[in-house]
Amino acid sequence: MEKDLKTVDELLCEFNEGLNSLVEAVNVSQGIFDIEYLPQYAEFVPHVIEGLKKAEGLYQRANIQLKNRIEVVIKGKGVAKNPFYDPSTKKIQIIPQGFNENLSRIVEVLVHEIAHYYHENVISGGFKNKAIKDQYDIAKQEKNQGGSVREVALDEYNKQKSLVKRIAKKIAKEGLVFKLERFDKLINKDAIFTYKILGYTGKDEAEIEIIDVFEVKGNPVDYETKSKYFLNRPYYYPISTVAGWLTKEKDQFNYKNEKEKLEELRLKYNDIASGKVADTRFQEWRTDWLPTNYSRKNAVEWFAEMVTAAVLEPDSMKPYVRNWFQQIMKTGKVPDVENPSE
Ligand SMILES: [Zn+2]
Repeated sequence: MEKDLKTVDELLCEFNEGLNSLVEAVNVSQGIFDIEYLPQYAEFVPHVIEGLKKAEGLYQRANIQLKNRIEVVIKGKGVAKNPFYDPSTKKIQIIPQGFNENLSRIVEVLVHEIAHYYHENVISGGFKNKAIKDQYDIAKQEKNQGGSVREVALDEYNKQKSLVKRIAKKIAKEGLVFKLERFDKLINKDAIFTYKILGYTGKDEAEIEIIDVFEVKGNPVDYETKSKYFLNRPYYYPISTVAGWLTKEKDQFNYKNEKEKLEELRLKYNDIASGKVADTRFQEWRTDWLPTNYSRKNAVEWFAEMVTAAVLEPDSMKPYVRNWFQQIMKTGKVPDVENPSE
Protein backbone atom coordinates (compact mmCIF):
# COMPACT_ATOMS: atom_id res chain seq x y z
CA MET A 1 0.00 0.00 0.00
CA GLU A 2 1.12 3.50 -0.75
CA LYS A 3 2.06 5.47 2.28
CA ASP A 4 0.25 8.74 2.79
CA LEU A 5 2.54 11.43 1.61
CA LYS A 6 2.40 14.67 3.49
CA THR A 7 1.66 17.79 1.52
CA VAL A 8 3.96 20.79 1.75
CA ASP A 9 1.19 22.50 3.68
CA GLU A 10 1.15 19.76 6.28
CA LEU A 11 4.93 19.71 6.61
CA LEU A 12 5.05 23.49 7.04
CA CYS A 13 2.26 23.29 9.54
CA GLU A 14 4.07 20.64 11.58
CA PHE A 15 7.26 22.67 11.40
CA ASN A 16 5.48 25.76 12.67
CA GLU A 17 3.80 23.80 15.42
CA GLY A 18 7.16 22.37 16.39
CA LEU A 19 8.46 25.89 16.81
CA ASN A 20 5.31 26.86 18.61
CA SER A 21 5.53 24.03 21.09
CA LEU A 22 8.29 26.13 22.62
CA VAL A 23 5.61 28.75 23.08
CA GLU A 24 3.30 27.94 25.92
CA ALA A 25 -0.18 26.72 25.11
CA VAL A 26 -3.04 28.82 26.43
CA ASN A 27 -5.95 27.32 28.37
CA VAL A 28 -9.40 28.76 28.55
CA SER A 29 -12.54 27.36 30.14
CA GLN A 30 -16.03 28.09 28.87
CA GLY A 31 -18.90 26.32 30.59
CA ILE A 32 -18.15 22.59 30.46
CA PHE A 33 -15.37 22.98 27.89
CA ASP A 34 -11.67 23.23 28.70
CA ILE A 35 -9.95 24.51 25.60
CA GLU A 36 -6.25 24.43 24.93
CA TYR A 37 -4.70 26.31 22.03
CA LEU A 38 -1.46 27.77 20.78
CA PRO A 39 -1.39 31.58 20.73
CA GLN A 40 -1.27 31.58 16.93
CA TYR A 41 -4.81 30.18 16.87
CA ALA A 42 -6.31 32.78 19.22
CA GLU A 43 -8.47 34.25 16.48
CA PHE A 44 -10.28 30.91 16.05
CA VAL A 45 -11.18 30.53 19.71
CA PRO A 46 -14.45 32.52 19.80
CA HIS A 47 -15.65 30.68 16.73
CA VAL A 48 -14.78 27.30 18.25
CA ILE A 49 -16.56 28.21 21.48
CA GLU A 50 -19.63 29.17 19.47
CA GLY A 51 -19.55 25.76 17.73
CA LEU A 52 -19.07 23.82 20.97
CA LYS A 53 -21.92 25.68 22.67
CA LYS A 54 -24.20 24.98 19.73
CA ALA A 55 -23.35 21.27 19.98
CA GLU A 56 -24.05 21.34 23.72
CA GLY A 57 -27.32 23.15 22.96
CA LEU A 58 -28.37 20.36 20.61
CA TYR A 59 -27.78 17.83 23.39
CA GLN A 60 -29.90 19.97 25.73
CA ARG A 61 -32.68 20.24 23.16
CA ALA A 62 -32.70 16.42 23.08
CA ASN A 63 -33.08 16.35 26.87
CA ILE A 64 -29.46 15.41 27.56
CA GLN A 65 -27.75 17.76 29.96
CA LEU A 66 -23.98 17.26 29.62
CA LYS A 67 -22.41 17.52 33.07
CA ASN A 68 -18.84 16.32 32.70
CA ARG A 69 -16.02 18.54 31.56
CA ILE A 70 -14.85 18.04 28.01
CA GLU A 71 -11.28 18.71 26.96
CA VAL A 72 -10.70 20.25 23.57
CA VAL A 73 -7.48 21.14 21.83
CA ILE A 74 -7.23 23.50 18.88
CA LYS A 75 -4.38 22.33 16.74
CA GLY A 76 -3.70 22.52 13.04
CA LYS A 77 -3.18 19.53 10.81
CA GLY A 78 -2.67 20.92 7.34
CA VAL A 79 -5.56 20.36 5.00
CA ALA A 80 -7.57 18.03 7.25
CA LYS A 81 -10.87 19.65 8.15
CA ASN A 82 -13.18 17.89 10.54
CA PRO A 83 -12.89 17.85 14.29
CA PHE A 84 -12.13 14.36 15.64
CA TYR A 85 -11.74 12.53 18.91
CA ASP A 86 -8.08 11.62 19.38
CA PRO A 87 -7.77 8.43 21.48
CA SER A 88 -4.06 9.07 22.09
CA THR A 89 -4.63 12.39 23.89
CA LYS A 90 -8.22 11.53 24.94
CA LYS A 91 -9.29 14.96 23.76
CA ILE A 92 -11.40 16.34 20.97
CA GLN A 93 -9.12 17.96 18.45
CA ILE A 94 -10.32 20.85 16.37
CA ILE A 95 -8.59 21.82 13.16
CA PRO A 96 -8.66 25.61 12.98
CA GLN A 97 -8.54 25.79 9.18
CA GLY A 98 -11.57 23.54 8.90
CA PHE A 99 -13.66 25.56 11.28
CA ASN A 100 -14.50 28.56 9.17
CA GLU A 101 -17.14 27.23 6.83
CA ASN A 102 -20.47 25.49 7.18
CA LEU A 103 -20.66 25.74 10.95
CA SER A 104 -23.91 23.79 11.23
CA ARG A 105 -22.31 20.73 9.61
CA ILE A 106 -19.28 21.00 11.89
CA VAL A 107 -21.60 21.25 14.89
CA GLU A 108 -23.13 17.92 13.86
CA VAL A 109 -19.64 16.41 13.70
CA LEU A 110 -18.98 17.80 17.19
CA VAL A 111 -22.11 16.05 18.48
CA HIS A 112 -20.60 12.77 17.25
CA GLU A 113 -17.14 13.52 18.70
CA ILE A 114 -18.63 14.48 22.08
CA ALA A 115 -20.27 11.03 22.14
CA HIS A 116 -16.83 9.47 21.58
CA TYR A 117 -15.41 11.67 24.34
CA TYR A 118 -18.04 10.51 26.82
CA HIS A 119 -17.74 6.89 25.79
CA GLU A 120 -14.00 6.85 26.49
CA ASN A 121 -13.67 9.33 29.36
CA VAL A 122 -16.94 9.27 31.29
CA ILE A 123 -18.39 5.76 30.97
CA SER A 124 -16.68 3.11 33.08
CA GLY A 125 -14.32 0.94 31.06
CA GLY A 126 -14.28 3.54 28.28
CA PHE A 127 -14.34 2.19 24.73
CA LYS A 128 -14.12 -1.31 26.22
CA ASN A 129 -17.33 -1.00 28.23
CA LYS A 130 -18.86 -4.46 28.04
CA ALA A 131 -22.56 -3.57 28.19
CA ILE A 132 -22.21 -1.25 25.19
CA LYS A 133 -20.21 -3.84 23.26
CA ASP A 134 -22.78 -6.52 24.04
CA GLN A 135 -25.64 -4.34 22.84
CA TYR A 136 -23.70 -3.57 19.67
CA ASP A 137 -23.23 -7.30 19.07
CA ILE A 138 -26.98 -7.76 19.32
CA ALA A 139 -27.67 -4.75 17.07
CA LYS A 140 -25.34 -5.86 14.35
CA GLN A 141 -27.20 -9.16 13.93
CA GLU A 142 -30.17 -7.18 12.64
CA LYS A 143 -30.66 -7.37 8.92
CA ASN A 144 -30.66 -4.16 6.90
CA GLN A 145 -34.06 -3.03 5.69
CA GLY A 146 -35.44 0.29 4.54
CA GLY A 147 -33.13 3.09 5.47
CA SER A 148 -32.35 6.60 4.34
CA VAL A 149 -32.28 7.78 0.73
CA ARG A 150 -28.53 7.42 0.84
CA GLU A 151 -28.47 3.93 2.33
CA VAL A 152 -31.10 2.66 -0.08
CA ALA A 153 -29.18 4.14 -3.03
CA LEU A 154 -26.03 2.42 -1.80
CA ASP A 155 -27.90 -0.89 -1.42
CA GLU A 156 -29.21 -0.58 -4.99
CA TYR A 157 -25.74 0.18 -6.30
CA ASN A 158 -24.14 -2.73 -4.44
CA LYS A 159 -26.86 -5.11 -5.61
CA GLN A 160 -26.34 -4.09 -9.22
CA LYS A 161 -22.59 -4.37 -8.77
CA SER A 162 -22.86 -8.00 -7.70
CA LEU A 163 -25.20 -8.71 -10.62
CA VAL A 164 -22.69 -7.22 -13.07
CA LYS A 165 -19.92 -9.21 -11.43
CA ARG A 166 -21.90 -12.43 -11.74
CA ILE A 167 -22.50 -11.84 -15.46
CA ALA A 168 -18.85 -10.88 -15.99
CA LYS A 169 -17.78 -14.13 -14.35
CA LYS A 170 -20.18 -16.05 -16.59
CA ILE A 171 -18.59 -14.45 -19.65
CA ALA A 172 -15.00 -14.59 -18.47
CA LYS A 173 -15.30 -18.06 -17.02
CA GLU A 174 -12.48 -19.89 -15.41
CA GLY A 175 -10.57 -22.08 -17.86
CA LEU A 176 -11.76 -20.17 -20.93
CA VAL A 177 -9.24 -19.90 -23.75
CA PHE A 178 -9.81 -16.98 -26.10
CA LYS A 179 -8.11 -14.96 -28.78
CA LEU A 180 -7.85 -11.20 -28.71
CA GLU A 181 -6.54 -8.95 -31.43
CA ARG A 182 -5.02 -5.75 -30.21
CA PHE A 183 -2.19 -3.32 -30.71
CA ASP A 184 0.73 -4.23 -28.54
CA LYS A 185 3.23 -1.70 -27.33
CA LEU A 186 6.04 -4.17 -26.77
CA ILE A 187 6.24 -5.28 -30.40
CA ASN A 188 4.71 -2.05 -31.68
CA LYS A 189 2.30 -4.00 -33.89
CA ASP A 190 -1.18 -5.40 -34.02
CA ALA A 191 -1.06 -8.91 -32.66
CA ILE A 192 -3.37 -11.78 -31.84
CA PHE A 193 -3.02 -13.05 -28.32
CA THR A 194 -4.31 -16.35 -27.05
CA TYR A 195 -5.19 -16.10 -23.39
CA LYS A 196 -6.38 -18.53 -20.80
CA ILE A 197 -8.32 -17.50 -17.71
CA LEU A 198 -6.74 -19.30 -14.77
CA GLY A 199 -9.03 -18.04 -12.02
CA TYR A 200 -10.03 -15.02 -9.99
CA THR A 201 -8.45 -13.15 -7.15
CA GLY A 202 -10.27 -11.80 -4.11
CA LYS A 203 -9.93 -8.32 -5.59
CA ASP A 204 -12.20 -9.11 -8.53
CA GLU A 205 -9.35 -9.60 -10.93
CA ALA A 206 -8.99 -12.38 -13.44
CA GLU A 207 -5.69 -14.21 -13.39
CA ILE A 208 -4.69 -14.72 -17.00
CA GLU A 209 -1.91 -16.45 -18.85
CA ILE A 210 -0.77 -15.71 -22.38
CA ILE A 211 -0.63 -19.00 -24.24
CA ASP A 212 0.58 -17.61 -27.52
CA VAL A 213 0.98 -14.48 -29.56
CA PHE A 214 1.02 -13.99 -33.35
CA GLU A 215 1.27 -10.98 -35.56
CA VAL A 216 -1.96 -10.19 -37.30
CA LYS A 217 -0.62 -11.24 -40.69
CA GLY A 218 0.01 -14.69 -39.29
CA ASN A 219 3.75 -14.44 -38.86
CA PRO A 220 4.77 -15.78 -35.50
CA VAL A 221 6.30 -13.22 -33.19
CA ASP A 222 9.92 -14.20 -32.67
CA TYR A 223 10.84 -16.09 -29.58
CA GLU A 224 12.92 -13.27 -28.08
CA THR A 225 9.87 -11.05 -28.05
CA LYS A 226 7.60 -13.84 -26.92
CA SER A 227 9.78 -14.71 -23.99
CA LYS A 228 9.15 -11.25 -22.62
CA TYR A 229 5.50 -12.18 -22.31
CA PHE A 230 5.71 -15.73 -21.17
CA LEU A 231 7.95 -16.84 -18.38
CA ASN A 232 4.91 -18.52 -16.85
CA ARG A 233 3.83 -15.33 -15.34
CA PRO A 234 0.21 -14.63 -14.64
CA TYR A 235 -1.33 -11.31 -15.60
CA TYR A 236 -4.11 -9.67 -13.64
CA TYR A 237 -6.95 -7.69 -15.14
CA PRO A 238 -10.25 -6.58 -13.62
CA ILE A 239 -12.89 -9.19 -14.43
CA SER A 240 -15.02 -6.41 -15.95
CA THR A 241 -12.19 -5.54 -18.38
CA VAL A 242 -11.81 -9.14 -19.47
CA ALA A 243 -15.56 -9.56 -19.86
CA GLY A 244 -15.55 -6.43 -22.02
CA TRP A 245 -13.03 -8.04 -24.40
CA LEU A 246 -15.21 -11.07 -24.99
CA THR A 247 -17.61 -9.31 -27.32
CA LYS A 248 -18.80 -12.48 -29.01
CA GLU A 249 -19.99 -14.23 -25.88
CA LYS A 250 -23.74 -14.63 -25.71
CA ASP A 251 -24.17 -12.73 -22.43
CA GLN A 252 -22.35 -9.69 -23.75
CA PHE A 253 -25.48 -7.71 -24.67
CA ASN A 254 -26.99 -8.27 -21.27
CA TYR A 255 -23.68 -7.39 -19.66
CA LYS A 256 -23.47 -4.02 -21.41
CA ASN A 257 -27.01 -3.12 -20.37
CA GLU A 258 -26.48 -4.06 -16.75
CA LYS A 259 -23.19 -2.17 -16.70
CA GLU A 260 -24.89 0.97 -17.96
CA LYS A 261 -27.49 0.63 -15.21
CA LEU A 262 -24.66 0.26 -12.71
CA GLU A 263 -23.10 3.51 -13.89
CA GLU A 264 -26.46 5.30 -13.53
CA LEU A 265 -26.81 4.01 -9.98
CA ARG A 266 -23.29 5.08 -9.18
CA LEU A 267 -23.99 8.63 -10.35
CA LYS A 268 -27.24 8.70 -8.43
CA TYR A 269 -25.52 7.60 -5.24
CA ASN A 270 -22.75 10.18 -5.74
CA ASP A 271 -25.34 12.95 -6.05
CA ILE A 272 -26.90 11.90 -2.78
CA ALA A 273 -23.59 11.45 -1.01
CA SER A 274 -22.34 14.85 -2.17
CA GLY A 275 -25.47 16.56 -0.84
CA LYS A 276 -27.11 17.39 -4.19
CA VAL A 277 -30.05 15.20 -3.22
CA ALA A 278 -31.37 15.53 0.32
CA ASP A 279 -30.34 12.71 2.62
CA THR A 280 -32.52 11.36 5.39
CA ARG A 281 -29.73 9.60 7.22
CA PHE A 282 -31.19 9.74 10.72
CA GLN A 283 -34.85 9.92 9.76
CA GLU A 284 -35.31 6.59 8.09
CA TRP A 285 -33.62 3.85 9.97
CA ARG A 286 -32.24 0.54 8.88
CA THR A 287 -33.45 -1.13 12.08
CA ASP A 288 -34.33 -0.07 15.63
CA TRP A 289 -30.71 -0.33 16.70
CA LEU A 290 -28.88 0.57 13.50
CA PRO A 291 -29.50 3.92 11.84
CA THR A 292 -26.91 3.64 9.06
CA ASN A 293 -24.47 1.27 7.41
CA TYR A 294 -21.65 3.28 8.95
CA SER A 295 -22.88 2.38 12.41
CA ARG A 296 -22.14 -1.29 11.67
CA LYS A 297 -18.43 -0.50 11.56
CA ASN A 298 -17.62 -1.20 15.22
CA ALA A 299 -19.01 -0.67 18.72
CA VAL A 300 -17.32 2.73 19.09
CA GLU A 301 -18.70 4.21 15.87
CA TRP A 302 -22.07 2.58 16.51
CA PHE A 303 -22.34 4.22 19.91
CA ALA A 304 -21.43 7.66 18.53
CA GLU A 305 -23.85 7.30 15.61
CA MET A 306 -26.69 6.26 17.93
CA VAL A 307 -26.06 9.18 20.27
CA THR A 308 -25.86 11.55 17.30
CA ALA A 309 -29.21 10.24 16.08
CA ALA A 310 -30.71 10.61 19.57
CA VAL A 311 -29.52 14.23 19.59
CA LEU A 312 -30.31 15.31 16.04
CA GLU A 313 -33.44 13.27 15.32
CA PRO A 314 -34.76 11.97 18.66
CA ASP A 315 -38.25 11.45 17.26
CA SER A 316 -36.91 9.00 14.70
CA MET A 317 -35.91 6.54 17.42
CA LYS A 318 -38.01 3.99 19.25
CA PRO A 319 -38.45 5.46 22.76
CA TYR A 320 -36.91 2.45 24.57
CA VAL A 321 -33.80 2.74 22.38
CA ARG A 322 -33.58 6.51 22.76
CA ASN A 323 -33.97 6.24 26.55
CA TRP A 324 -31.08 3.84 26.77
CA PHE A 325 -28.68 6.27 25.06
CA GLN A 326 -30.07 9.30 26.91
CA GLN A 327 -29.53 7.56 30.24
CA ILE A 328 -25.96 6.64 29.36
CA MET A 329 -25.08 10.18 28.31
CA LYS A 330 -26.83 11.71 31.33
CA THR A 331 -25.43 9.44 34.01
CA GLY A 332 -22.33 7.82 32.51
CA LYS A 333 -23.82 4.48 33.54
CA VAL A 334 -25.22 1.83 31.23
CA PRO A 335 -28.72 0.69 32.29
CA ASP A 336 -30.49 -2.50 31.20
CA VAL A 337 -32.38 -2.22 27.96
CA GLU A 338 -36.09 -1.67 28.68
CA ASN A 339 -38.83 -3.83 27.31
CA PRO A 340 -39.83 -2.42 23.90
CA SER A 341 -43.54 -2.58 24.72
CA GLU A 342 -43.37 -0.53 27.90
ZN1 LIG B 1 -16.48 8.51 14.96
